[in-house]
Amino acid sequence: MTIIKDIKTTVFKWVGDVVPPKSNFCTNPMDMMDGKGDNMDSFRFHQWLICEVISDDGTIGIGNAALAPEVTKKAIDTYLKDLVIGENPYDNDYIWEKMYRNTMAWGRKGIGMIGISAIDIGIWDLIGKKEKKPVFKLLGGRTKDRIPVYASKLYSQPIHNLQIEAEKYLNDGFKMFKMRFGWGPKDKEYGIKKNLELVNAVREVIGDECDLMLEAYMGWDLEYSKAIIPKLTKFNPKWLEEPLIPDDIAGYIELNSLGKIPIAGGEHEFNYLGFKHLIDEKAISFIQYDANRVGGITAANKINLLAEKNNIPVIPHAGQMHNYHLTMSNNNCPFSEYFPVNQVEIGNELFYYLFSGEPEPIDGFIDLDDNVNGLGLDINMKYLENFIKL
Ligand SMILES: [Mg+2]
Repeated sequence: MTIIKDIKTTVFKWVGDVVPPKSNFCTNPMDMMDGKGDNMDSFRFHQWLICEVISDDGTIGIGNAALAPEVTKKAIDTYLKDLVIGENPYDNDYIWEKMYRNTMAWGRKGIGMIGISAIDIGIWDLIGKKEKKPVFKLLGGRTKDRIPVYASKLYSQPIHNLQIEAEKYLNDGFKMFKMRFGWGPKDKEYGIKKNLELVNAVREVIGDECDLMLEAYMGWDLEYSKAIIPKLTKFNPKWLEEPLIPDDIAGYIELNSLGKIPIAGGEHEFNYLGFKHLIDEKAISFIQYDANRVGGITAANKINLLAEKNNIPVIPHAGQMHNYHLTMSNNNCPFSEYFPVNQVEIGNELFYYLFSGEPEPIDGFIDLDDNVNGLGLDINMKYLENFIKL
């Protein structure tokens, strides 16, 4: 018998160098507001939460969360921690449901579920360490020799620079790429022209045989999306990601039913019931949960089952170990996202700076080690001086 003795949360705030994003770097939800203040505010993530789940024999499982870490920490410390201490970590499904139902009035989506995610990931890491197995071997085992990954960056920038960046990833061996749009509804016809120029520039570099994914990061509305989609089809994109805010499910259904470009989404959806709704309504053609938001590995694994039975591929948001283990263990997860490591900009890069153990891609593939227990992550001592702990 083993029990969870303690939960320890620490926010790591990046205080090292940052490359400031430039204007029209990437569309985001604030673009639909009148231009007061900083439109990129909703699109910077320079903190990360580490949630240690500590068992009575001193084994430590490491969970993490990236959204609103200081508030998520508070939710864990104030509400969730006491629900988990004293429980047997192997009762992970029971613990998940206990946290979910105890915070039902306020916690179902957003911060509450992110807190549950961080603890759940820590529990799975703990179980893996105790069982001396990688987490993917506890989920369903190895379904692929390696995981194909797509290079996910290519933010909006002058065409020449964008093409140089795309060429670099191509030369690194990637065969799949995701790029971002820089303009939205308020930029009218001029913005549509600029967006099309961006896509054309990347397609020109990567050729016709590579996959190209397009990302709007919730920065458009239905009307704009319907206007630009027919103009994008000639570039044969594999998907159009998050054109609308996640709550506009009717809009997603309408865009996906056009049948012109498959719509991808889900990195801002929560829990398997949220995904059941999207699946039932055929609102998206690719599912992109992130285990550190959606309810941890326990919830993500249930979504994998739902998605598989409905023939909707799952390509989790962000790559990163908590998602790679799910991708490795499920046939319905054909490939994964990968953020090329750069200087800290948006903050997607922080995971690499905070954790050691992340696999590095070779020729557009990553692999997981059969002989590393748990998720295989540790705090990266190399860059620790660039963080302060909160
Ligand atoms: Mg995205």
